[in-house]
Order: sequence, then structure tokens, then C-alpha cells
Amino acid sequence: MEHITVGKIVDVVADHYGLTLAEMYGPGRARSLSHPRQMAMYLARKRTGASLPQIAKYLRRADHTTIMHGIKVFEDRIKHGTQKKDLQQVEERLAQTPPMETINVTGYSAVSLKMSYKIKLPKPPAKPYVAKPRTCLACQNEFLPRHKHQFMCLDKQCLRKRRAA
Ligand SMILES: [Zn+2]
Repeated sequence: MEHITVGKIVDVVADHYGLTLAEMYGPGRARSLSHPRQMAMYLARKRTGASLPQIAKYLRRADHTTIMHGIKVFEDRIKHGTQKKDLQQVEERLAQTPPMETINVTGYSAVSLKMSYKIKLPKPPAKPYVAKPRTCLACQNEFLPRHKHQFMCLDKQCLRKRRAA
């Protein structure tokens, strides 16, 4: 049986609109945030067994009236065609996603937590080059390379031999 959680719905909606989970769960009121959020409310009601107060809690909204209002305005919008295509795409993706995650105590699904690790961390500074004695490929003498791509010594006699060769 298909098992879709509120957490998964939030993941898929956030990903569809390119929003972060902080934006999905946060207080921002811009349409670019409220419209996707209202889609999540609608889908949570339609596709999970969660009650309105539970959905409000998961989505960090004030109470069930926020969810009721959100679902109503979303339904009005899809009647007028706005967000309808987005809804179809999100529903297709929900159908494809295998049932795997459960909502943990933080309200973030396992998938959400995994997504948050996708954030690129700055690379640690490159390690300084520590020279180790190396055998010269031309004269077989040991020398201390100045950089890791140096394979032949700079000994004058060795250089002269190499030029002559
Ligand atoms: Zn050499």
C-alpha cells in the first residue's frame, strides 16, 4: 500500500519549487512561499491520514484554521488553473517516491534530513606540500623536490648530462 507522509509531501513540494525546508516551515508570507505551502497542506489532507491540527503542527502553522484556509484558497487556485500543472507534477513525483521514511520527533522526515546534507560545505584549505626525498629519474641520486611534480634533481652535473643526452 502506498504510504505518503506529511514529511515526504513537504520534501517533494519544496524540491519542486526550489525552496529550502526552512522556507517551507518558516514564517515568510511571500506568495512564492505561501502557495507551495498551501499545496503541501492540500496534499497532506488529501493523501495522508493526518488531521488538520496534526498538519498544522507538522507544517509549523498556528492552528487548524490556517490549514483549512490554506486548503480552501489552494482549491480555488487549481479551479482557476493556477498551480494545477505544478500539482500534477508533484503528485506524479509522490507516486514515484518509494515509501521509506517516517516523520521523526523534529518533524523532519529522513529524506529532509538527507537533503539538508546536500548543502555544499566549503572545501578545507589544501595541505601544504611537505617535501620527501625522491630518487632522480635521470641520475638516481636522492634529492629534495620543490613540488610534488618534480621528479628530477637540479644538480648541475645531472642537468648537463640530461642536456647532452
Ligand atoms: Zn639527477
